[in-house]
Amino acid sequence: MTPATDRCAICSSSAWGGTLAFTAEVRGAGGGWNPVSITDEFGLCAEDYDRLVEYADAITASEQGTAVLGLPLRPTPFALGPDHCDCCQAELPDQASTMELVPAAQAYRRGSRTHRVGTLRWLRVCRLCLGWWQSAVRNPGGILGYSRSTAEGSSGGWLNPGHAGAAVHALRHRDTAMVAATMEADGASFRSIGRGAALTPSEVAFVAAGKRDRATAFVRAANPAERHRIAVVALSDQLEDAMAALKLGAGELLASPLSPQQIVGAAVRLAGQRRMKDPATGLPILGAAAPEFGRSCISYAVEARDPAQWLDPMLLMEFALVARRFLRGYDEVGSDGNGSLQLNVFADVMYRTRIAEVLGAALGRGAVLKAGPVRKSSSAVA
Ligand SMILES: [Zn+2]
Ligand SMILES: [Zn+2]
Repeated sequence: MTPATDRCAICSSSAWGGTLAFTAEVRGAGGGWNPVSITDEFGLCAEDYDRLVEYADAITASEQGTAVLGLPLRPTPFALGPDHCDCCQAELPDQASTMELVPAAQAYRRGSRTHRVGTLRWLRVCRLCLGWWQSAVRNPGGILGYSRSTAEGSSGGWLNPGHAGAAVHALRHRDTAMVAATMEADGASFRSIGRGAALTPSEVAFVAAGKRDRATAFVRAANPAERHRIAVVALSDQLEDAMAALKLGAGELLASPLSPQQIVGAAVRLAGQRRMKDPATGLPILGAAAPEFGRSCISYAVEARDPAQWLDPMLLMEFALVARRFLRGYDEVGSDGNGSLQLNVFADVMYRTRIAEVLGAALGRGAVLKAGPVRKSSSAVA
């Protein structure tokens, strides 16, 4: 199989560099992985090919100093083996994907012993990291943090400078550093706390979910009147704990790795009123679309493609985590109150279809994304 066109999927250049292919896999009875199908294959120019190879190398070497936003860095600079994502090291369920970067010279000489193995990269990734790699191709402005992404309109603006201080608990090192730097930049307080009971009314909390009940225990120990000020920060293998914490009263779900904009968006929302909860997932029920920040609000609904999974709360949580990772920090991820996920995206209406395409690619084929109501801002041009 070869890419559909001979132009770079990112910049349309025809200076050929190589291909990026994604393959879906399922775990076999013996525990090994079996490929199912190539789900996507992109042609890349030499420049974009080399850039994606650099990302892969930064991720697997755990290069904390990289400037790319939200790069799913490995916490440790070594691989944990086939049962863990090669990027974020989350434990893999029975499905995974591999991503393979094959340089043009390699593709040409495949099977030969003289090929350049140096620039071939191969990673097995979880659903969340698959979405990150997908968006690295389809929406590169988003991950590079350009102030204006051609895919989604203005995406880098700092819309909410004023917010409460933050307390963090058990976050990964890089996420802790990101919260600390964001609070410092905005002149807000920052501290690390050991228990939910230590949370004060002037703070919002960013708490890491765990394999067992780390976030749940934190929320349980917090004053019930303060619990809606807690954001649960999760990886794709920590959604059970995250969901239990949300049901106990935590205010929202965030995806690790955090970006400054995700932190600010959450800090602003969490400092507001307690919201109604979807009983199945604990996600906040979002109201009808309403313009904010002088921007129109576009709503989308997300549900499982397979009707047998429509009310599966864990699948909705997976979709919520992926959506949270790919929407901008001030966009909202929650429930519609009727069993579907609702996304409220603040953007120009002219980007409605393009946002749906980017989100749909990140969510994957198991999800159906439906465009819902749009409420136009009176100051919007579109
Ligand atoms: Zn290119
Ligand atoms: Zn991952």
